[in-house]
Amino acid sequence: MKNKKITPENATRAGLHPRSKHHGRYNIDALVQALPELKHKITLNPRGEQTVDFSDPEAVLTLNKALLAHHYNVQFWDIPKGYLCPPIPGRADYVHRLADLLDTEDNTINVLDIGTGASCIYPIIGATDYQWHFTASDVDPVSIKVATQIAKLNPHLSKKIVPRLQKNPTNIFKGIIKEGEYYHLTLCNPPFHKSLKEAEQGTKRKADNLAKNRVKRGSEATDKKGQTIKPSSQGLNFGGQKAELWCPGGEEAFIKNMAQESALFKQQVGWFSTLVSKKENITPIKTLLSKLGVNDVKVIEMSQGQKISRFIAWRY
Ligand code: SAH
Repeated sequence: MKNKKITPENATRAGLHPRSKHHGRYNIDALVQALPELKHKITLNPRGEQTVDFSDPEAVLTLNKALLAHHYNVQFWDIPKGYLCPPIPGRADYVHRLADLLDTEDNTINVLDIGTGASCIYPIIGATDYQWHFTASDVDPVSIKVATQIAKLNPHLSKKIVPRLQKNPTNIFKGIIKEGEYYHLTLCNPPFHKSLKEAEQGTKRKADNLAKNRVKRGSEATDKKGQTIKPSSQGLNFGGQKAELWCPGGEEAFIKNMAQESALFKQQVGWFSTLVSKKENITPIKTLLSKLGVNDVKVIEMSQGQKISRFIAWRY
């Protein structure tokens, strides 16, 4: 891995799923055609190729709008300042690999996204690429409001995405999965830090390292969620995020809670799944799942260049 040649454009995109729409370099001309305002954000890299400045949050947001317009037919998409701007290729990979797990003849596939965020990114990808129907939960009312707008304003999404506010932050499926509902899949990109302070420190540390590496290899700087970080003033633009990046007990507690609750909904869900950002959390989660009587567990690794991520999936 270390010897792999990494360029700003392929840094996050090597090793993508075969069905990914994001192989190779970004087709800047096609993206500008899909979203003309992107042309104001185009710069040239040292090799004279068109790219965007990945350390400029505005440029990254505009690139995301263009990617969503070009590949996912999303004409309306925006997120409030301070909210996670998701790197789309990595998010799409989780969706494609979940699609590989499905073994059903059902025509309508119902999916539950836990913690959809303001971007509503997983439902957008799953509804567009696979025609899946989504319930999208979040504890953050602003995220639910923005996700609802995104679904409403894009005709191909409006009947496929139903955001639902989780009113109790200690609940995952409770209060969201209603009687009589069945979900073929659940997915989640959980908050992973233990406190706001840890989130800020983690992001600063990561940003410092990435900023150093960035100079070395000319790659974009992203935090563990893949959020782009400005090399200067790292960690300072945390204002609105709070629940996005942390929860009491961090990722391990969040996922253990999810596992415990999954037992209550085993009749109503096919595959449960969640990203696990810390590799060392896999073993304790597996141990708990086995105690809960789960015997079908998969850990699926995903690689986006130098970044390895993984999700765990289980069914009863
Ligand atoms: N899915 C988006 C956002 C992930 S960040 C993306 O991948 O970019 C994690 C999200 O989980 C945040 O939006 C946060 O508000 C939400 N969250 C935290 N606790 C939750 C809970 N108990 N139920 C549902 N969502 C929760």
